[in-house]
Amino acid sequence: MNRVVFAGQNKYFGTVEEATEFWLSLGINHIMIKQEEDIRLIGNDNKVIISDFIKLSKLQREYGVKYHLHIYDLRFNDDGTSSFEDAQPRMDKILIDCDHLVQLDKMIEEFDLYPLITIHLARFGKWLGHDLEIDEKEALEKNIEFLQNLKLHSKLSLETMHDPDRNPGHVLLGYKAEHFENVLNGKIDLDQGLCFDTGYSKMIDGYSGDFLEFNINSMHLEGTDGTKDQHFLPTKDNVGDFEVVRKAIKKCEGPVVFEIGDHNYSREEIGECVEFWRETIN
Ligand SMILES: [Zn+2]
Repeated sequence: MNRVVFAGQNKYFGTVEEATEFWLSLGINHIMIKQEEDIRLIGNDNKVIISDFIKLSKLQREYGVKYHLHIYDLRFNDDGTSSFEDAQPRMDKILIDCDHLVQLDKMIEEFDLYPLITIHLARFGKWLGHDLEIDEKEALEKNIEFLQNLKLHSKLSLETMHDPDRNPGHVLLGYKAEHFENVLNGKIDLDQGLCFDTGYSKMIDGYSGDFLEFNINSMHLEGTDGTKDQHFLPTKDNVGDFEVVRKAIKKCEGPVVFEIGDHNYSREEIGECVEFWRETIN
């Protein structure tokens, strides 16, 4: 019995309704929703937008699907506070402390969304012209401190990343297994695991098989040519180590998301890709 849950992503596939219908047409009934990009979820006042959650829960029932949330990156400021990535200018001012994720977590519970929140470990180093005075070791300690103070009902899924120099402006922890050793094996009272990103696993100098030692509770199935963040349709050759990826999928206890970029793929191409991966793990 194959219990792998394949999922699609909303981004690039239209409104939540359109994306849901697209993935359903390929037999996929689980969708990853990106906060802010797909539906806002959090307002300028740093409060959850309840109507967005009502909408998601209504669509879940109507379509018979499940949604899970991918939340914006955390980053650490010079003053030690943490906040959203400032990719969206208006988000820049918003402090994301534990309360922020806790609010989302409460909504997930109340509106019966799939109980999983995917985040990246916090940023450090240079990005978008900022130069944070924080090194990798200190960033890791701050991440652990942040997670130690967090109480969630949902599972937390921490995404594996690419080497910092492969994608300038996107310098995050999570490109080495040792980053997660400290985070996942620490005294942190959270149900958490890795979100294994297959495209990023092609953008590391280390061995991606090292990630297999951890609990994997979601995956981003996407491909790159190893040079930058591309989100191509995942194939045998563009996902890093194919055997590692197969093992990770079999081990994964949550949604395995086709995290596909905007490359004008046809429905047929995406359908064939989904079929390839369904057969691969059988
Ligand atoms: Zn990803």
